[in-house]
Amino acid sequence: MTAFNNTPTSRRNLLALATAAIAVGMVPMLSRSGDDHHDDHDEGGKFSAGQNTTVAAANTGLSGNIVVVGGGMAGATVAKYLRLWGGSGLTITLVEPSTSYTSNIMSNLVLNGSRTVSSLAYGYTGLASKYGIAVKQAAVTAINKAAKSVTLSDGSTLSYDRLVLAPGVDFMDAYGLTQADYDSKTPHAWRAGAQTTLLSTQLAAMPANGTFVMTIPKSPYRCPPGPYERASLVADFLKTNKGAGSKVLVLDENLSIQAEVASFTYAFNTLHAGVIQYESGVTNVHINPDTKAVTYTDQVGTITTVSANVVNPIVPHRASGSAPGGWLAAAGLNNSPDGRWAVVDVLSYQSTAANASGIHVIGDAANCGMPKAGHVANQEAKICADAIVRLLGGQQPDPAPVANSACYSPLTASTASWLTAVYQYDSANQKMVVADNGGRTVGAKVTEASNHNTENFKQMNTWFNTLMGDSFS
Ligand SMILES: Cc1cc2nc3c(=O)[nH]c(=O)nc-3n(C[C@H](O)[C@H](O)[C@H](O)COP(=O)(O)OP(=O)(O)OC[C@H]3O[C@@H](n4cnc5c(N)ncnc54)[C@H](O)[C@@H]3O)c2cc1C
Repeated sequence: MTAFNNTPTSRRNLLALATAAIAVGMVPMLSRSGDDHHDDHDEGGKFSAGQNTTVAAANTGLSGNIVVVGGGMAGATVAKYLRLWGGSGLTITLVEPSTSYTSNIMSNLVLNGSRTVSSLAYGYTGLASKYGIAVKQAAVTAINKAAKSVTLSDGSTLSYDRLVLAPGVDFMDAYGLTQADYDSKTPHAWRAGAQTTLLSTQLAAMPANGTFVMTIPKSPYRCPPGPYERASLVADFLKTNKGAGSKVLVLDENLSIQAEVASFTYAFNTLHAGVIQYESGVTNVHINPDTKAVTYTDQVGTITTVSANVVNPIVPHRASGSAPGGWLAAAGLNNSPDGRWAVVDVLSYQSTAANASGIHVIGDAANCGMPKAGHVANQEAKICADAIVRLLGGQQPDPAPVANSACYSPLTASTASWLTAVYQYDSANQKMVVADNGGRTVGAKVTEASNHNTENFKQMNTWFNTLMGDSFS
């Protein structure tokens, strides 16, 4: 469950660049100091120990100027592994507007008071000092594909040989709501931060036996099990703190639960029975941000209006910058049929858009056939880093990449379930598909826990710390 180094690591020996063949554990470390378990965990703005640790990357003979856009799960990982696998000759610049990253993973636990938003903060000091990544605090505002350069929010430009875009998602105006409504009245809290705090405050202030309404957008969306996990945790919180008559109405635009079907069916119908009401296949959702009246049409066409105390619209999203006029759209990189995602070649994560040579897109912004998830973003980043190193060395990307994903879902404040999947390249269809242990793809399925328990909850914390450490430390 916790082993998430994918095949690029194990396939190092396939790389003909002898000096670049550095498995992660073999990288010589100089002057290690501090606690490498939490190297760059930024709790409330204070970086913990470990910033003086330096990695002496090998001289692989490779050189190149690589710009990474976005310091989230995908961007931080690709910057780190480009250094580990590409060696000391690469110039790697990470462009990120925030001074630290707030993990979405585990942020549902802020809603029931188990965690704080500040406990989910990860800084960039380790990437800078340990791996020699140049961290530029700015946002990319434009891409000049012909000149191979990006313009930043401070007006400066950066040129690149390879550009890796990992900007995550933007949230669309939906259900009659605006961005200002999300920020102040009806938070989606689907990017962890101030909206997560607002939603937890609203939950804490709910009256006894009140009504919480949440929506789930049509797939694909960020973190398939995430909304169902949130519904379970909110139900657990409300019935514990606000009375057994509390209600959680889940309005799902999908026709069925999108992940961990057995676990969440049990959570909705048994564990939190009487509290959660699950409506699938809803349409025409409309939300009044002031009165908190929510109107929707159910599967049989009945129109219902519910008066809620708190409304949590997880609205449809799209690759950051892909709104009409946005920087990704202006570069023509949002080339999925609906214009919301960047389509990539899953062997290298290079964009398939016209004239996009040298541009790679990873993480939630990419349309790659795997779920939009942090663990998967970490895996995509490694496949991409491996492909870039090979391409810089005049080789072709690994023709058979494998990735895996694990995800733990708390169903109560102390118990969790999990799912895990292996994905491998299907050359016939040129996409990543679910595989089983023996590498067979026909009939292979995502595996989910047979029950929820406290042991899973403990393992969840180990998995989370390991994943975040692998991405940011
Ligand atoms: C409540 C919740 C729970 C979740 N739980 C899990 C879980 O248990 N397991 C799991 O695997 N996944 C989980 N996820 C999903 C996971 O958080 C995302 O899939 C993951 O963060 C995607 O990584 P990313 O790098 O693509 O985007 P992000 O992590 O969002 O990072 C994008 C970065 O790009 C930056 N950026 C944006 N625009 C620009 C620009 N123009 N210039 C420069 N930088 C820019 C942003 O500031 C941000 O730092 C969860 C998500 C949510 C909302």
